[in-house]
Amino acid sequence: MIKTENAKPARANIKRYFTAQRIVTFGVLAALGYAISLLSFPLFPGSPVSFLKLDFSNVTTLLAAYMLGPVSATIIEAVKQGLSVLTSLTFGVGELANFLITFCFFIVPAVLYKKRKGIKSVILGMAIACVLQIVAGLVVNKFITFPAYGVAFGMDAETVDALYSVGWPFLIAFNAIKGVSVCIVTLLLYKRLSRAMKWIFRDRKKKTAEQDAGGADNTSKSFANHDKEVYNINMQKTITRNEDETKELARKIASGFTGGEVVLLSGDLGAGKTVFAKGVAEALGVKADVKSPTFTLSCEYEGDKLRLIHIDAYRLKNGEEAEACGLNERFGDKHCVCLIEWPSQIESVLPEHRTEVDIVRTGDSEREITIKQC
Ligand code: ADP
Ligand code: MG
Repeated sequence: MIKTENAKPARANIKRYFTAQRIVTFGVLAALGYAISLLSFPLFPGSPVSFLKLDFSNVTTLLAAYMLGPVSATIIEAVKQGLSVLTSLTFGVGELANFLITFCFFIVPAVLYKKRKGIKSVILGMAIACVLQIVAGLVVNKFITFPAYGVAFGMDAETVDALYSVGWPFLIAFNAIKGVSVCIVTLLLYKRLSRAMKWIFRDRKKKTAEQDAGGADNTSKSFANHDKEVYNINMQKTITRNEDETKELARKIASGFTGGEVVLLSGDLGAGKTVFAKGVAEALGVKADVKSPTFTLSCEYEGDKLRLIHIDAYRLKNGEEAEACGLNERFGDKHCVCLIEWPSQIESVLPEHRTEVDIVRTGDSEREITIKQC
């Protein structure tokens, strides 16, 4: 399998992770979450648990969990709770409890969505999130919030227990209402915001990949000048001067494939995506003639060791449609290589580990091909 260098020192990775852009995004989302948390209202006023206040600040955390991943969401939630501590009347106990409960809420959807994009994984993640939040709410209140409340108001253990035995059904109802309403608002906001976030972070990813490819060396190289033995897949712009050179480049890339690769082929109509697909097919030992599967959406070919799945997403409106056709089921399948033309149409169901191939027409028979391993 063609791979970029993996063994980067941890410190370099951390430094790379905390870019100025990321820090600003974390700060903005944490501050936004904190501001929203101020707009809270008691859900059961007049009850023994009138301190349970509903707010929608977890929407920002859940959105961050989907768009930026579990680590980013944890940092954002921690900063948000950190901001709350500054104005807290509970010396941080309430914030610690909130952090733990919220962590249980977003962690499963974040991890699930990172592994598998698509509406099914979102719905499953949210269902698990709501259940976990209810359980975490019971546990955290029993062992942290209620005892702390007892200490603050000078109650003995029995009084605290009695209070909890009255309060726990309210806790279940509270966390169920909170979980479901936060999930609904997140679902309503996600689509619009994710486009903006992807746009911000795509730009950043591009730059990082270019730096990885050798810093200043951003110029396109002629295909003919390429080292025949080692092809640097990391981030390389290559000029091909005819169809055969494009196929040859594709063959070189695919010669390292071991199964499970997903290759995204982007470029305008006639750019050469299908030509590239033919090169990949040749490398895999496919005997059949590979054509653009525009009308069939997907074609499957038998190679020597691996199967080739060739998808054309041009006619699909979104990832849900791709899912409905079962097109995403083979992504990552160790027995297959998946090639996807017009991948931007179905971005939401695409895996994160992929090879991105961008083909730009720079002349009648000249193409600039950028290959990036993600
Ligand atoms: P797409 O699938 O991107 O719509 P195709 O691969 O079907 O495009 O068609 C690309 C067309 O461009 C073919 O007719 C091919 O002969 C032509 N072509 C000219 N120069 C090149 C090149 N350098 N690489 C790939 N295709 C080229
Ligand atoms: Mg095509």
